[in-house]
Amino acid sequence: MQLVRSKTQPARPDERAAWEYAPAPESRDVVSVDAEYGLFVDGEFRPAADGTTFATINPATEEPLARVAEAGAADVEAAVAAARRAYESTWGPMPGRERAKYLYRIARVLQERAREFAVLESLDNGKPIRESRDVDIPLAAAHFFYYAGWADKLEYAGFGPSPRPLGVAGQVIPWNFPLLMAAWKLAPALAAGNTCVLKPAETTPLTALLLAQVCEQAGLPAGVVNVVTGGGDTGAALVRQPGVNKVAFTGSTEVGKQIAAALAGTPAKVTLELGGKAANIVFDDAPVEQAIEGIVSGIFFNQGHVCCAGSRLLVQESVADIVLDKLRRRLTTLRLGDPLDKNTDIGAINSRQQLDKITELAAAGEAEGAERWSSPCSIPDRGFWFPPTLFTGVSQSHRIAREEIFGPVLSVLTFRTPEEAVTKANNTRFGLSAGVWTDKGSRILWLAQRLRAGVVWANTYNRFDPASPFGGYQESGYGREGGRHGLAAYLDV
Ligand code: NDP
Repeated sequence: MQLVRSKTQPARPDERAAWEYAPAPESRDVVSVDAEYGLFVDGEFRPAADGTTFATINPATEEPLARVAEAGAADVEAAVAAARRAYESTWGPMPGRERAKYLYRIARVLQERAREFAVLESLDNGKPIRESRDVDIPLAAAHFFYYAGWADKLEYAGFGPSPRPLGVAGQVIPWNFPLLMAAWKLAPALAAGNTCVLKPAETTPLTALLLAQVCEQAGLPAGVVNVVTGGGDTGAALVRQPGVNKVAFTGSTEVGKQIAAALAGTPAKVTLELGGKAANIVFDDAPVEQAIEGIVSGIFFNQGHVCCAGSRLLVQESVADIVLDKLRRRLTTLRLGDPLDKNTDIGAINSRQQLDKITELAAAGEAEGAERWSSPCSIPDRGFWFPPTLFTGVSQSHRIAREEIFGPVLSVLTFRTPEEAVTKANNTRFGLSAGVWTDKGSRILWLAQRLRAGVVWANTYNRFDPASPFGGYQESGYGREGGRHGLAAYLDV
């Protein structure tokens, strides 16, 4: 209940928290979570051949949500065989204008069931409902809408008069944007005429399985989309299946390298969307308040579980003090807690394993001599949490400046000249994204030409659109997703 106090009575300091916000929880009742989920193969849900299951939990409470079938090699083989049959009998020969109708239907059903998806995503992943509701689910629907529009226009896409699909796509996705990554993978593949076997991450399988239900609801022919749940072994079995013509992977650079090595010399086409360590560069002429918001959304959006997160802040030395002062003040206003509360800014870390990794890297930052500051927010007793944290006094050789932390941790470095900013920004083995904050358009263009990053945002950060290609250089992977470029990855061109 909110306190009611007359205007003349000031709030006592210990009452301030109660004055700030009343809880605004989204209802859990909009989604019914089954006790058990099967694999989605050949248009039906079925248990794993050997009956193995694993638990998926709510990372905000550590409570089990459901048990999910764990696909073994035989299940993966059956899913790929089902996808092959569907490719040859229905989906491959189907005219693009007919395929488009199914994609539009999936997009519409996603919109209709958006609240259900948003709540389920927040329960299984730990991300704030505000983000799953306003970003993940609408963007997932937008991807299906966008690629539905391409399905009957492939011959006009600049890939020759009759571009052909590749066949069966094996797609492995991570846990940071479970439904959105499924949409990024499925929508262009299906539009181009391929059939799919999708492997969601072990900690976040539920929205992919709900999407499988949506495929059923949309009347998608059996075998066109198959979902095989499981851990790394399931993913490894899928990408190595000889019947898979195209492998699309999003995840860690380490696993991406293993996949690239395993598929070298095979006919399978591969695209890899891997890690990042992006520089978010703030110049002395940048609109400071706007830049502060961009820094915050750059690294604290989705608890920093974002491959293109602006995890290295490069701030011009002359404004470093004022930017850091304002940034610390802004971070103390971020609300960490219940992901289903609409006021929450920072949700739960997706798993204990990821929390351990963030904790270990933050400790390494302190041990190497950087200065740590964490927002003084209270941490719930149960679940996996990490407060918004920033490190100053970071040098380029520190692990926190070189390695992907994939958590709400910002490493701050300074620069004096634009040339120094470019050199520091490019001093990374990754190359996925970058941000530039300045008042001068000419400086934005000068930097964009020199930054070795697949995406460069100017005076904004973490903006996504299905029409815009996304992908990396160097150890951030190869291939592009999104836009017309994203179609090329699923066509024999
Ligand atoms: P992984 O790369 O291990 O996971 C990504 C996906 O690949 C998951 O579905 C995973 O299954 C699957 N997978 C795991 N091993 C294999 C394999 N040998 N062959 C095929 N597929 C496999 O990332 P993690 O979840 O383990 O996260 C580890 C670190 O990776 C994070 O701390 C973060 O730094 C980084 N990461 C980066 C991402 C990015 O987009 N840049 C996304 C996710 C993680 P399962 O999850 O079930 O094991």
